[in-house]
Amino acid sequence: MTDAHLGFWPRRMPTSLPLPAAGVHHNLEVSARRYPECPALVYYGEEITYRRLLEESRRLAGYLQREAGLSKGDRVLLYMQNSPQFVVAYYAALMSGGVVVPANPMLLTEELEHYVEDSGARLALVGQELLPRVLPLAGREGLGCVIVAAYSDYLPPEPEVSVPAEVAAPRETLREERVILWEETLRAGLSPESGGPGPEDVALLPYTSGTTGRPKGCVHTHRTVQATLVGAGLWVNLNPASVALATLPLFHVTGMQHSMNAPIYYGGTVVLMTRWDREAAARLIERRRCTHWTNISTMVVDFLSPGGVEGADLSSLMCVGGGGAPLPEAVGERLHRLTGLRYMEGYGLSETVSQTHMNPPDRPKMQCLGIPSFDVDARVVDPDTLEELGPGEQGEIVVSGPQVMRGYWQRPDADAEVFFERDGRRFLRTGDLGRYDEEGYFFMVDRIKRMINAGGYKVWPAEVESVLYAHPAVREVCVIRSPDPRRGETVKAVVVPAGEVSGEEVISWARERLAAYKCPRLVEFVGELPKSGSGKILWRALGEREERRAVRG
Ligand code: AMP
Repeated sequence: MTDAHLGFWPRRMPTSLPLPAAGVHHNLEVSARRYPECPALVYYGEEITYRRLLEESRRLAGYLQREAGLSKGDRVLLYMQNSPQFVVAYYAALMSGGVVVPANPMLLTEELEHYVEDSGARLALVGQELLPRVLPLAGREGLGCVIVAAYSDYLPPEPEVSVPAEVAAPRETLREERVILWEETLRAGLSPESGGPGPEDVALLPYTSGTTGRPKGCVHTHRTVQATLVGAGLWVNLNPASVALATLPLFHVTGMQHSMNAPIYYGGTVVLMTRWDREAAARLIERRRCTHWTNISTMVVDFLSPGGVEGADLSSLMCVGGGGAPLPEAVGERLHRLTGLRYMEGYGLSETVSQTHMNPPDRPKMQCLGIPSFDVDARVVDPDTLEELGPGEQGEIVVSGPQVMRGYWQRPDADAEVFFERDGRRFLRTGDLGRYDEEGYFFMVDRIKRMINAGGYKVWPAEVESVLYAHPAVREVCVIRSPDPRRGETVKAVVVPAGEVSGEEVISWARERLAAYKCPRLVEFVGELPKSGSGKILWRALGEREERRAVRG
């Protein structure tokens, strides 16, 4: 196979995109009108038509408004794994005027407590297996009601690939105060009030962290969400015949936009997977003739590693790409040999509700973020002076465009750190160090912000440090990234002990309080940490030392 069959990409792509003057939920209503009997979702073999998806979303929205008392602008915690219920809950919350606060299903109660407290969420929509982590918060912090869903409700009698245990688990009969069963909300048969939110209303608060440690919400309106989802689909020619394999978690902006919202806008089909499983992914691509697969590069590494998918029919794939972290060059070549496709890397942030950059499918560059997406003005500036830099010069990537968030939720101090005005436009500082070439392709070189990218999962050292500092035998700690052959980077804690403590104890302390992906995998004990004249811990110096050690082996 050659690159020739990439010719599906229209060569004369507009640089600007008109956006729908309606809320995101309206996209589902339009697709359900146009393609009522076409499958919107496929869940391990069960087909859910657009008609059914809209009907169930409307019933839940009616319940949220009329029974659960949700008013316009109220925040709704969405804490579920990929499932039809996630999609229904997302669209229902938007339809009823709510603001979706998506939470990583790996978060533990203490971490969720911050989300609930900070966002002021009044209601939670939760997967059954995650309920025990939410229950301690019900009734506190204004979280008045929890609606709980069992994923197995949507399973066919004979699933077409193997199903993870939490998906197969039968529905439990719960008798908890404040807990409402999903099927009760649908059985009530209520409809939402007419009218619904408009483009400038707040739709989404994805949480991300930063230098201060505690995650903060990015305020996105229906309009900012529309900006990336419409652009994402046009870029890769999504259409009603498209079949998108959804392996990325939908709570994160990339999965949400590329694997759920964009296919729904363009009337395509979403083949949902709750958990990454390369065998199941290969079977689903074959059986469902998937055309689009957005992923994180570590999935492709796993997918193409020996003993994986040899012999699988991948000929339906027209576009394989993703963001979050670069794909190793050798793996990109293997993908090309097997499918004729070049990996299409993209780049974006929670603050821009997914991509600001994408590689053009007919002329992608490897290990490259791509070119600015529709209506994006991306530049590179000196991080100290904000002076603009030219091609080939290294500096901070800054972006302006319709997908940039309004600001951080109730954090004007954090806004002041990331926004600046230039040429009458408002630019967002990404905290990423990069450059662009003479053709306008952007490349990432390093990060200015203190973040660890562990196989696409973002870990913010300050958050981990604040948990480790609470350990009685930790005097000082600095969390850094350490090179990792599989995850790209992994989390390491450099600890000055205040007493007897082992590395395992430090790790298990973190495991009890933090989602597993944030916990240190490595612990090093030192007599003291390097500090600046003003007493600040020199985390960058420690990180550089770690990289030098890795190079030396
Ligand atoms: P998040 O807010 O979780 O989407 O994380 C955004 C961050 O992910 C960016 O600021 C980058 O540091 C990183 N990132 C996104 N895309 C890429 C990419 N293609 N290559 C390397 N890092 C990326």
